[in-house]
Amino acid sequence: MLGFWYKEFPQYPKDHKDFWRTRLIAHSLLITTSYFLVLTLLNLFYFESYDIALIDALGLAISLGIYTWFNKTANVNAAAWAVALMVVSLIMMFVISVGGHAHSLFWATLIPPFSFFLVGRNWGSLFSTVAFAICAYLVYLQQQQTVTIGLGSLFNLIEVSLAHILIFRFYEKTRFSAYQHLATRNIEIQHLAETDKLTGLYNRQKFDSELSQLIAKNEVSKTSNCLLICDIDYFKNINDTYGHLVGDSVLSEFANILKNKMPKSSLIARWGGEEFTVILSGTSITDAMAQANELKEYVGTHPIVNISLTISIGLAPIQTDDTVLKILERADKALYEAKNNGRNLVCCSDNNLTITAYPDYIKQLNLNKVNA
Ligand code: GH3
Ligand code: MG
Ligand code: MG
Repeated sequence: MLGFWYKEFPQYPKDHKDFWRTRLIAHSLLITTSYFLVLTLLNLFYFESYDIALIDALGLAISLGIYTWFNKTANVNAAAWAVALMVVSLIMMFVISVGGHAHSLFWATLIPPFSFFLVGRNWGSLFSTVAFAICAYLVYLQQQQTVTIGLGSLFNLIEVSLAHILIFRFYEKTRFSAYQHLATRNIEIQHLAETDKLTGLYNRQKFDSELSQLIAKNEVSKTSNCLLICDIDYFKNINDTYGHLVGDSVLSEFANILKNKMPKSSLIARWGGEEFTVILSGTSITDAMAQANELKEYVGTHPIVNISLTISIGLAPIQTDDTVLKILERADKALYEAKNNGRNLVCCSDNNLTITAYPDYIKQLNLNKVNA
C-alpha cells in the first residue's frame, strides 16, 4: 500500500549491509512527515496557533526535503545522519520543553537504538550519552524542586542509561561484524564460484557470462574483439605416459604461460579439461592471428614441466549479432580444422566462415596488398 513511499534502491539489495538502514530512514521520514503534517493542520485550523504551525510546517519541509534528496541521491550515510540529527533533536527539544515531566523521559529511550542503528557505534554512544546526561540533569532539577522524585530516581536513570548505551554498543558491534563477516565470505564464495581451482583462471561459467556481457554492452561494434580456443595436442598421452599429477602440473604451467603471453587486457579462462579460451579485446583478426601464432610457437619450442608438447588454436572474430554459442561454435570449428590439418596450428574462422590456417592467412593478406 505504501509502495509509493518506500523506494527500492537496486544498489542496496536485501543482503546489502545498508538495506535495513534505507528502510529505517524511509520509515522515520514517513512518520515525521505525517506527524508534522497533522500538527501543522491542527495548529492552523483548530488551535489557530500560527507561530507553532509555522514551526511544524518547517519540520514538515525538512522531513520532505530529506526524503526527496535521499530518493534522488541514495546517499545512505548522509541521510542517516540527517534523520538521526532530526529525530534526536526533536525528542530532546520536547523533553527539555516539558522539563522531563509527564513521563516524557521515556521518549529519550528511543535515542540509543535509533542512533546506533543509523550512525554507528561511536556516534551512537555520543548521541546517547549526551541525551542521557540532559535527562539526568532534568531529573536532578526535579529532585531539587519537589519531593516526589528522590535521589534514588536519579541514580536509577544514570545506571539504566549506562546499561542501555553499553548493551546497544555491543549489539551494534555484533551486527556490524556479522555483516562484515558475511561480506568477506560472499567475496570468497564468489571467487570460488568463478575460478578454476587447478589453474586459478576463470572457469567456464564466468567466461560465458563475461562474453555475453561483452556482446550485450555492444562493445563489439566499437572495437574488434577475437576469441581463441587453445587445446593441448595429444594431452591424453601425457596423462598416460607421466600420470595425472604431472598432467595437472602441465595444465597449471600452461595457464601461467597464457597469463604471461597474452595481453593484460585479455580475459583468460579454463574452458574445460585441456581447453583454454581467451578474449582478445580491441584486437583485429590479423593481430589476433599473429599473437595466437606466437603463443603456439613459444609452446612448441619451450617444454612444459620438461615435456615437449604443442597446441592447436581456433580463432574467431566476435561479431555484433553474435551469441555466446555462435562464437564458440565458430572458434571450435576453426580448432577442429587445426586438429584435422595435423595439429600445432592456428586456424581462423573469419566473418565469412572461411577457415584459414595461419601461414595461408598471411600469404593471402600479402597477396591482397600486392593486388591493391
Ligand atoms: P587432441 O590432440 O585431439 O586434443 O587429443 P587429446 O588427447 O589432447 O584430447 P582428448 O580429448 O582425447 O583428451 C583430453 C584429456 O584431458 C582426457 C582427460 O583425461 C584429460 N584431462 C581433462 N581434465 C584434466 C585434468 O584436470 N587433469 C588432467 N591431468 N587431465 C585432464
Ligand atoms: Mg587436446
Ligand atoms: Mg580437447
